[in-house]
Amino acid sequence: MTRNVVIVGAGLGGATAAAVLSRAGHDVVVVDRHAAYPADFRAEQLVGSQTDALRRLGLLEGIVGQATPMLDATSACYGTIIDQTHSLHYGIHYADMVNAARSMAAGATFITGRAAQVTTGPEFQTVVLADGTALEARLVVLATGPSDGGLLAPLGISQTMLSEHHSLTFGFDLHTTLRRILVYYGERPGDRMDYLTVFPIGGVMRANLFCYLDPGDPWVKLFKRDPKQALLGVMPSLERTIGPFEIVGKVQVRPNSIHRADNAWQREGVVLIGDAYQSSCPAVGTGIGRILADVEALSRLVPSWLATPGMGIDKLAQFYKDPAKQRFDNRAVRDARFRRALCSEAGWQWKAYRTQYYYRRRTLGVVSRAIGRDGPTAGSVMDRTQRAAQAKGAAHARLALTWKAAKRAMAAVITLLT
Ligand SMILES: Cc1cc2nc3c(=O)[nH]c(=O)nc-3n(C[C@H](O)[C@H](O)[C@H](O)COP(=O)(O)OP(=O)(O)OC[C@H]3O[C@@H](n4cnc5c(N)ncnc54)[C@H](O)[C@@H]3O)c2cc1C
Repeated sequence: MTRNVVIVGAGLGGATAAAVLSRAGHDVVVVDRHAAYPADFRAEQLVGSQTDALRRLGLLEGIVGQATPMLDATSACYGTIIDQTHSLHYGIHYADMVNAARSMAAGATFITGRAAQVTTGPEFQTVVLADGTALEARLVVLATGPSDGGLLAPLGISQTMLSEHHSLTFGFDLHTTLRRILVYYGERPGDRMDYLTVFPIGGVMRANLFCYLDPGDPWVKLFKRDPKQALLGVMPSLERTIGPFEIVGKVQVRPNSIHRADNAWQREGVVLIGDAYQSSCPAVGTGIGRILADVEALSRLVPSWLATPGMGIDKLAQFYKDPAKQRFDNRAVRDARFRRALCSEAGWQWKAYRTQYYYRRRTLGVVSRAIGRDGPTAGSVMDRTQRAAQAKGAAHARLALTWKAAKRAMAAVITLLT
């Protein structure tokens, strides 16, 4: 029996693609090694444009039903508040996010198993599972995450390394009286710290620390042995902002490299989405946005691909050349390289950038608080629904626009001065 689409891998990319394509009436089979996505340290927050994309795909309510919403976020450094924003964040464990997305793909057929081989052709594709089961489809979507599981090389698809050992992410729970989101930036570039973010998931305060250290760095060993001492060593004024705290339970560490399957477009019959196509640096938070841009592109293109015979590279090129997808993918790499340099480079240009960046945000934060406008326009990740709800009436909206223009002008002046 030939299916419309076989999706290999049901992490966030595969599960959301399955939900969207099956809801559109396509005959979809999903293969994953795990019947339910297991506990894993990955993205633990949904914010701004990510929630916008989930809303457009009709998946937001189902996914954030299990999440912890939070409005207030404070950014700080050197024990001093930089700015405060009121935008909607959701704290949620990655496994809960994925399993909620899977449950919204009720129209798809789920098979638990490992895909061992994919063969493709101009019309029909075959996925062979480790137990010998063969699945035939018009289109195969590979959503296998950052490690290809040996499926790509036989297809002639190779991964180009864009930045090896790019960053390290730590995840842990905190005992603290803090009950709002905190983003606390690294205090010295030599430490190669980007930021610590603290946020609630259920009744637990969770913390993610993003840095640009090699996994073998002595500080990493110290952090595993005595995380509080190691953290205060690089963020000495942290307790002035969050008060006394303890790190409890297990510390998780994940190294991240950035790679891209540059020649994937040359293979007929198969598209790569999410981390299978390009991995992301967690510090810039572009992984989920990129996945959802891929799924939105698929939802636009797959109906017309299936409506005519063949699944050649001319059709698939439309996916890889999709302007929104390309924008997300390229921005993810650019932003990842920029942030790494901003947080670790020693040259005078980077010192100037850091000074300018800090004082610009700090001044805008002070002005926002002084005139009581640190709400609707202060955050770059403002949730649109919330913004619409808060911007009551045309007069309010005009005021918001004026403030936005004033902020831009102030930012330009601060940039020139620093
Ligand atoms: C520590 C960490 C923190 C992060 N934080 C953020 C953040 O704050 N914001 C953000 O936007 N992004 C973040 N990211 C990135 C984000 O989590 C990833 O981009 C995203 O999880 C990738 O999803 P995916 O669906 O592509 O792959 P995955 O979620 O890895 O799913 C791949 C699936 O494929 C299955 N699979 C693989 N091979 C086979 C096979 N041969 N047969 C059958 N099944 C197979 C696996 O079982 C798995 O279920 C973070 C990543 C990490 C590691």
